[in-house]
Amino acid sequence: MSDIRPPDAVIDIMRRLKDAGHTCYVAGGAVRDLVMGRVPADWDIASSALPADVERLFPRTVPTGIAHGTVTVLHGGMQVEVTTYRQDGPYSDGRHPDYVSFAPDIRDDLARRDFTMNAMAYDPIEDCLVDPFGGREHIRHRLIVCVGDPMVRFTEDKLRMVRAARFASTLGFDVHPSIVQACSQLASEIVQVAAERIIAELVRMMEGVEPSKGLALLDETGLLAHIMPDLAGEVAADRRRELYAACDSLPQWAWERWALVLSPIGPERARQVLLSLRASRHQAATVYRIMSGAEALRDVAPADGGGGGAEGAGGGGGRLPEARQLRQIARQVGADALLSSVRVFLALRGELAEGAGSAEWAEGGGVPEGEGVGLGGHPLLLMAATVLASNPPLKVSDLAINGKDIMAAAGLESGPAVRRILERLLDEVILDPAANTRDRLIELAVKCAKALSRDQR
Ligand code: ATP
Ligand code: MG
Repeated sequence: MSDIRPPDAVIDIMRRLKDAGHTCYVAGGAVRDLVMGRVPADWDIASSALPADVERLFPRTVPTGIAHGTVTVLHGGMQVEVTTYRQDGPYSDGRHPDYVSFAPDIRDDLARRDFTMNAMAYDPIEDCLVDPFGGREHIRHRLIVCVGDPMVRFTEDKLRMVRAARFASTLGFDVHPSIVQACSQLASEIVQVAAERIIAELVRMMEGVEPSKGLALLDETGLLAHIMPDLAGEVAADRRRELYAACDSLPQWAWERWALVLSPIGPERARQVLLSLRASRHQAATVYRIMSGAEALRDVAPADGGGGGAEGAGGGGGRLPEARQLRQIARQVGADALLSSVRVFLALRGELAEGAGSAEWAEGGGVPEGEGVGLGGHPLLLMAATVLASNPPLKVSDLAINGKDIMAAAGLESGPAVRRILERLLDEVILDPAANTRDRLIELAVKCAKALSRDQR
């Protein structure tokens, strides 16, 4: 079926299960990946074996989710989840089955899965694909289709609606019209799902190849209005759509993309929106910093002359700021946010080149160092990358002298005056990084101390 073979450890585990009289398959996302010719990240096995059987058969296991039938087998340097075929009981909380029971047949297990592309099983030993719902054909048509009636399946578990948006983005697939319709009807019920689960899917959606697809589904069905009322309620639909499209050109990093999409409501409200969705403080602060940087760029890099002002006006009709202005912004928002700020700023102005995104980013979950060159090559982006590459002093701790040096040179006690002098010195080296030498800063610190004591008299 695919040239990609499961690792030997997975085959070993499956052989041993079969030798003991059980049936087993690779199931779920791994089969979807295989059918798409991609190398799966995890190889989950579904089996008729009960958790106790699995624990008996393998010397090293972890009871990861015994109640749900999952045992992790440690074998050949891998951790492989083996889960007993399950059938879900009725759903009454809109998210979880009231109970699950073990089932004898893989087909029962596949029937409870969300989308047809995720409801296939594969036996690599027999090279046999079990595909009862047409998953392979739907993948060929790049279409997300529910297993069964979307109204029924989304009523059972509302999170599946957001998962549809996640997969639309990560796979670049369209969603079947019946999914759009069901999402529209059930949108208001998304509030039954814990914010943590929603944000986890939204982050994966924003790391996808085509976030505009997922965002469009959430938007058009009214799901977004319930998840992020601030955004949906106040930003014109046309503008929202432009922002979604621009997201596709940014690196596959969720927080930079959120900064773009949430730009119309400003950094502080964006931070609140993300915190209320249970993003971490750090994640919300990252978005805040990126957005603040993009706002600051508006003042120093106006689209049509005025302000700003380095020689040789920049690309896209705007003017380039001076290097010191970029250093000032980097001081304010953090060096790690500067390139993201520049890209968001350019995207908001419709000036980010197509294909500026870089898939390599998705992994690390942070802004990589030294990026910028080759990301669309906008002069402002190149300039920001150059500024950062020179590693300029941007924090008090980057200065060539510290508070103790100042106290010794200027005869000061420790106190707020020392901090103020350090900040003044940083002002100077932001203007002129070459001033960041011990001698020069000691000289400046003594002058500052004198000026401060004169002011106090
Ligand atoms: P990825 O490779 O991106 O992790 P995945 O398909 O493995 O994608 P998971 O969220 O890890 O996605 O889920 C594993 C499998 O479990 C899915 O392929 C699907 O068959 C099933 N599944 C997960 N969540 C649900 C759900 N809410 N309802 C029904 N089936 C689900
Ligand atoms: Mg998975």
